[in-house]
Amino acid sequence: MESDFVTYDKPPISYRERRFSRFLLFFEDLIKVPIFRCQHCGECILSSTGFVCSQRCPKRLRNGPCGGTRADGHCEVYPERWCIWYKIYMRSKFWGRIKLLYKINRIHNWNLERTSAWLNVFKKRNDAPVLFVCNDKEAEKLDDFKRQD
Ligand code: SF4
Repeated sequence: MESDFVTYDKPPISYRERRFSRFLLFFEDLIKVPIFRCQHCGECILSSTGFVCSQRCPKRLRNGPCGGTRADGHCEVYPERWCIWYKIYMRSKFWGRIKLLYKINRIHNWNLERTSAWLNVFKKRNDAPVLFVCNDKEAEKLDDFKRQD
């Protein structure tokens, strides 16, 4: 379904709500900027990217690497940096959250940029975060694959 891939700003953000959202964003930033280096996309997908902010990718990709990742795991745009999706993969593996990497995240709704992701979850514009993952079959498959090597 189309709504699985795009986030329409439903319910729409009124001017008043946008101001309130900016106010909440101040408090959200106190936690998310120092810990996750949040880029204020307003549609938080941290829980499905191993708690590494995918929006630190220079191309702002939300569903995996661009294909230009270097063989050593570095970024094609900034060769001195790790590809953020390489980091996401490693962190997801560490936390046993690989299966969440198979989830297709919606196309970014730029209208939600610099709004509070917490408020957007509350308003049902975004999905609630997935806090716990039990039986990560995809991580188990990786372990089996390694054992066969
Ligand atoms: S709100 Fe967006 S930019 Fe901020 S941490 Fe979450 S995914 Fe990253």
